[in-house]
Amino acid sequence: MRNIAVLTSGGDAPGMNAAIRAVVRTGLANGLTVWGVEDGYAGLIEGSFRRLGTRDVGSIIQRGGTILGSARCMPFQTPEGRELAIRRLHGAGIEGLVVIGGNGSQAGAHALQQMGFASVGVASTIDNDLFGSDVTIGVDTALNVALNAIDNLKVTASSHRRALLVEVMGRKCGYLALMAGIAGGAEAIVLPEVLVEPEAIAQRIQAAYDRGKPHAIVVVAEGAKYNAGRLCEAFQQRNLLVGYEIRSTVLGYVQRGAVPTCADRLLGTRLGSEAVAQMVAGHTGLLVGMCRGELVTTPLETVVNGVKPLDPWFLKAADVLAQ
Ligand code: ATP
Repeated sequence: MRNIAVLTSGGDAPGMNAAIRAVVRTGLANGLTVWGVEDGYAGLIEGSFRRLGTRDVGSIIQRGGTILGSARCMPFQTPEGRELAIRRLHGAGIEGLVVIGGNGSQAGAHALQQMGFASVGVASTIDNDLFGSDVTIGVDTALNVALNAIDNLKVTASSHRRALLVEVMGRKCGYLALMAGIAGGAEAIVLPEVLVEPEAIAQRIQAAYDRGKPHAIVVVAEGAKYNAGRLCEAFQQRNLLVGYEIRSTVLGYVQRGAVPTCADRLLGTRLGSEAVAQMVAGHTGLLVGMCRGELVTTPLETVVNGVKPLDPWFLKAADVLAQ
């Protein structure tokens, strides 16, 4: 293999640039030519490739987002779209592809591999919902952004004796909410994985009030049945009393664009570098991830069919520690 390409796909995640840099420099060190694909699978279909040298990835390790751009691309989900993408890759003489992204992106990598195009995935999504990696690129930074916000909101909540609902990202996965809730000392955490009725959450907030807490912080996952907006509505419509005045804040995309933490820069570097090592060794059709602190590979077939559950220890701890 002499020519490989790298793309970033799905939601951008802090640390993607570290992974791109590692792919490029490890590839060059192995005598490969490395191409960057612009805007994820959309760029693959359009043939938007640019050759990347070592200087092209200089001074990007500290930057959030992705220098290659990312996109959500519907045409790639059709066989015709993927056939066109493979024709573009062959046309440019590219023989292997590194896909940096989350669940959907790895489903795309798997589909390419099944059609005979050598692909290796790198686990990257702030949602941390990807099977095959305990932790994915971007999670640590997103968590720290959420924590900063929670710490700040707690100050104002205390000053005004308020309950604050803080909605964090994560799509259908409650990982960010659970971890930010525990590390941020939340009084209650609302997750997509555990259905809790508004009455039970109101009771929990009221109990904090009765115990004399100056504030109550409820961390709510955006994918929960009752997200922050629906929870506020339910409290009003059902006349649920919680003691405090209630306010809600949706953190949204602010969690995505931050400067990557040291942990995300190192994770991006390790996973990106290992992806090239696997490709050079002729091992493709797999995801490179990190489990129990070690680099691991998992077949993309297993990744796309796997479901990563929340850690039961943290789920239990969330209840005990909120007292
Ligand atoms: P994040 O977790 O950050 O949202 P993601 O990789 O899960 O990232 P998606 O929007 O689900 O983000 O997927 C990114 C792109 O991957 C899609 O726009 C599409 O082009 C491609 N893709 C998704 N699912 C499939 C599939 N089943 N087959 C082929 N391609 C897919």
